[in-house]
Amino acid sequence: MPLIQLDRISKQYPSAAEQPVPQALNSVTLNIEQGEFVAIMGPSGSGKSTLMNLIGCLDTPSGGHYYLDGRDVTTLAPDELALVRNQTIGFVFQGFNLLKRISALDNVGLPLLYSNIPKSERRSRAAAMLELTGLGRYLHSLPNRMSGGQQQRVAIARALVNQPRLILADEPTGNLDTHTSREIMEIFQTLHKEQGITIVLVTHENDIAAYAKRLIRIVDGAVVYDGKTNLSPRINTN
Ligand code: ADP
Ligand code: MG
Repeated sequence: MPLIQLDRISKQYPSAAEQPVPQALNSVTLNIEQGEFVAIMGPSGSGKSTLMNLIGCLDTPSGGHYYLDGRDVTTLAPDELALVRNQTIGFVFQGFNLLKRISALDNVGLPLLYSNIPKSERRSRAAAMLELTGLGRYLHSLPNRMSGGQQQRVAIARALVNQPRLILADEPTGNLDTHTSREIMEIFQTLHKEQGITIVLVTHENDIAAYAKRLIRIVDGAVVYDGKTNLSPRINTN
């Protein structure tokens, strides 16, 4: 059974003015198996983030069905979706989305707050995740004193702390230099190889997508390529 099964998913955002807006996603059908490492590419505005938000149960589709681990999550209420998210999915964003005034340790422990896990266990699990992402010496640092690469390592540790089966990363290296981007991608690669975590990642860069085994290209809300990641490095064609 696929971990992610999208069956003719469409998404229509409401239009602000009277004129109709095109569908952000138009009948997307695809499966992603447990343990896959998938890159999603496509021009700006093609629907990549919309797709990630739907896969991540942060939004609901206007049409079609989404089965996550065999369960139809299309019709779940917001609180049920929140539970699914918390138990199954870790998110990493381009802008890191950390709380600036609390330590790296407390940022990473945040998702555990919602699971009623005692403080001592929250701290030890958060510390272990920061060790894993190479930040064992920065447990008590504040995010705004850290480099971009370090902040993204904190965000990855936070995404991992609930032991999710699925990591969704929307342009996770978009704010990072080439060298730091590689370091971050190596963390994802290790998680994929050693822990079998399913990773779905949006990127603009061929070099980054090349870490994935499968590439999905979307244009105007529709899948135009789904196959091997067969990319020559250093050519940025979207
Ligand atoms: P990408 O991530 O590929 O750049 P998006 O998924 O963000 O693309 O956007 C796809 C389309 O949906 C775009 O036309 C965008 O303007 C529109 N869109 C995205 N989010 C919203 C929203 N919250 N409300 C209305 N339109 C949106
Ligand atoms: Mg986007």
